Amino acid sequence: MSSIFRKDLHSLKNEIKTEAKSLGFSHISFTTPGTPIHFDSFMKWLSAGHAAKMGYMQRSDTIAKRKDPRLMFPSCESVISLALPYTPVNQEAEENNEIRIAKYAIGPDYHSIIPELLRILLEKINQKISPENLEYQIFTDSAPILEKDFAQKAGMGWIGKNSCLIIPGFGSYFFLAEILTNLPFEPDTPFIYDFCGNCTNCIDSCPTNCILPERTIDANRCISYLTIENRENTPHELRPKINNWVFGCDICQQVCPWNVRFSKEPDINYFKKSNGVENLDLERELLIEKNEFRKKFESSPILRTKYQGYKRNLLVAAGNKFQEKFIEPVKFIIENEEHPLLRSLAAWVLIHNNNDLDYFISILEIETDQSVKQEIENLLHEN
Ligand code: SF4
Ligand code: SF4
Repeated sequence: MSSIFRKDLHSLKNEIKTEAKSLGFSHISFTTPGTPIHFDSFMKWLSAGHAAKMGYMQRSDTIAKRKDPRLMFPSCESVISLALPYTPVNQEAEENNEIRIAKYAIGPDYHSIIPELLRILLEKINQKISPENLEYQIFTDSAPILEKDFAQKAGMGWIGKNSCLIIPGFGSYFFLAEILTNLPFEPDTPFIYDFCGNCTNCIDSCPTNCILPERTIDANRCISYLTIENRENTPHELRPKINNWVFGCDICQQVCPWNVRFSKEPDINYFKKSNGVENLDLERELLIEKNEFRKKFESSPILRTKYQGYKRNLLVAAGNKFQEKFIEPVKFIIENEEHPLLRSLAAWVLIHNNNDLDYFISILEIETDQSVKQEIENLLHEN
């Protein structure tokens, strides 16, 4: 460390910014570790049960790390916050798709791209100083760190009412990543403005009304949570509101004026290349098998829902956007699918659309799972 003086750090910081931009990061800012300014609202959000069943967020060790990232990396002197943009939503094209997927998930999984880019950046930094001087840890959505808070403290932008970080003149279609390092860079000026003003577009457009005050979201009702993290059945009352979103939801970003006005194709776009998930055919997907699911989405974030979650989401979409052509694949699920949750949901798709009620009398005779039988009886009773 002794060989790096403050003056050197100033020029190193500028060089890191230039290198990061050449790798495709649109924004890069520096700040210090320590308690994030929104830590108290995070704790309130957690205590109110708004993290739904994301138990890992509620563990005392992860809470402590969120409060002070130095618990993960004791020699941390600086947090470098980076934004890597992805393809913005083309709303018109998007709305005609049978299956809607959050735009960030159309391309390859960012977990396989961002760490690699950060390693390249760190190699470049290492070439500029004596390597023994540099200690670091890299993160992207992979550790208990309040990423948006550090980005705001580093001056990148503000946390909008939709709880996304918004960069003025740029929008919110990007991934955040962090490098924690022992180098004591001069911090950038924190972003102190709130450019949401009187706008409430995101709140007014959210289909499940899950946007809360204090720039947080009730995960229990958010389509992103319900279609990705949730491992259980989709709550009945929320199914119609999910419409045909099968992985995530972009609505609160699509309607944000900062995206409408400023979002554009990134100069370097690692997420453009479609890996077969754009324009998915719902009828065809309903018949997807476990092995095919794993193969098809092996490099896609969609793998995170796992087979059962993906199929659950497809069934909710099929129930909401019902067409005659879905009847056979849905019946195939009712008769052959091993997961009871999926057989129940498949029954919901047909009964909810008043289809072939007599068919279910025969299904009740062969169905062996008590929860599925009960669900079919309840649905028939309601209809
Ligand atoms: S992702 Fe969708 S459901 Fe979640 S807050 Fe945004 S608009 Fe609402
Ligand atoms: S839609 Fe409006 S209120 Fe919501 S985050 Fe964007 S600017 Fe803020």
